[in-house]
Amino acid sequence: MRQPEYVRTVQAFARRELIGQERLLDSLADAPLPLYGRFAETGLANWWLPKEHGGLGLNLEESVRIVSELAYGDAGAAFMLFIPVLTTSMVGWYASEQLRKRYLSTMVEQNGSCATLGSEHEAGSELARITTTVRRDGNFLVLNGHKAYSTNADFGQFLVVLARVEGSTSEFLAVLVPRDTPGITVDKRWEMIGLRSSGTYQVSLADCRVPADNALAGNGLRLLEVGLNASRILIATTGLGIARRIRDLCMEYAKTKSVKGAPLAGNAVFAAKLGQFEMLIGVMTNQCLTAAREYDAIAARPDAGEEFLRVGTLKSALTTKMFCGQSGWQIASTASEMFGGFGYTHEAVIGKLMRDMRYVSIVEGGDDVLRDLVFSRYVVPVSKRS
Ligand SMILES: Cc1cc2nc3c(=O)[nH]c(=O)nc-3n(C[C@H](O)[C@H](O)[C@H](O)COP(=O)(O)OP(=O)(O)OC[C@H]3O[C@@H](n4cnc5c(N)ncnc54)[C@H](O)[C@@H]3O)c2cc1C
Repeated sequence: MRQPEYVRTVQAFARRELIGQERLLDSLADAPLPLYGRFAETGLANWWLPKEHGGLGLNLEESVRIVSELAYGDAGAAFMLFIPVLTTSMVGWYASEQLRKRYLSTMVEQNGSCATLGSEHEAGSELARITTTVRRDGNFLVLNGHKAYSTNADFGQFLVVLARVEGSTSEFLAVLVPRDTPGITVDKRWEMIGLRSSGTYQVSLADCRVPADNALAGNGLRLLEVGLNASRILIATTGLGIARRIRDLCMEYAKTKSVKGAPLAGNAVFAAKLGQFEMLIGVMTNQCLTAAREYDAIAARPDAGEEFLRVGTLKSALTTKMFCGQSGWQIASTASEMFGGFGYTHEAVIGKLMRDMRYVSIVEGGDDVLRDLVFSRYVVPVSKRS
């Protein structure tokens, strides 16, 4: 079946800018911005932004197809290009009309980016323990604190910062903070072991003042949960893209490697491994698409924001990320052995793919955290099942 045009555009971008450029993309030497700019030239920058703000309005199922192709080329590029979806879905559903118009339309016009600042060192995944505070001062909000990791924060046009209401133990706000607000300091860019073409930063906020209307409507922790649904499904999809690339790399290698006087490609042990990869890739694909369709069905409702608030974190988003992280890791680990000693050098691409794959089971909740969430939200005792 012929692929839709947007997929062919992304495949061409991946062939031109990513595949074969692994050493450069893995070097961390370059800031991510030039790559961001070259992707914008395809006309697909921030492809999910709504048509009412001038965007292309592609849905999450279409996003899965795009991200799988981008991650086939380079997972770091894929991650930095789609992760603003976390921020913009919170803004899209819970910001005032004025804020949405101003920030989402400008993002479309300028092919811009944005970032979410949630994580903190001390709190870890227990976000209810964050210490960044927000206090009201007349018609303004004032934010103070330190955020551990935020992708794209250095060059985003705006940030959504998760903060505790000063003096409260249970009230949290998600506040839109323009990137040029005085008091924002990017402390450093992390030297990550994978996704090295993307940029994740540690950020401090010192007396950052924004208009009180910049607070999104609702409890900040719940809004973040809602935003994470789309990005978790796309993180899972990067695992799928990397896994497809690993499979193809193994096939190429097996044509050149000879074992017991015959090409590895004809060896039964190799065939069993590749058969296992194909099974996992098939289920990962179906899982990502099914989760995306479930998400799209809610997103298409006129009351999508309220419905997402009601359901919070989607079970399919959690399980898809866990499944793709675990299956992807199984594929990466088996494949890295396949390349022998060469696979353990920086000259082989498999090492980069393995390091990139690792993030799927860590970012936006490690598997222990997600298992806990699935258990507490979705495992229903027999006596309570309808
Ligand atoms: C490349 C990258 C990009 C990122 N980008 C962003 C971003 O843009 N914005 C943002 O806000 N954050 C971002 N993060 C942060 C990321 O989401 C967190 O690092 C991730 O969710 C894991 O949380 P943590 O680092 O606090 O570790 P923790 O969750 O504290 O985990 C540390 C250990 O504690 C264990 N643990 C924690 N909770 C439980 C539990 N309930 N049960 C059992 N064990 C548990 C874990 O299993 C693990 O062994 C990014 C991180 C990376 C690596």
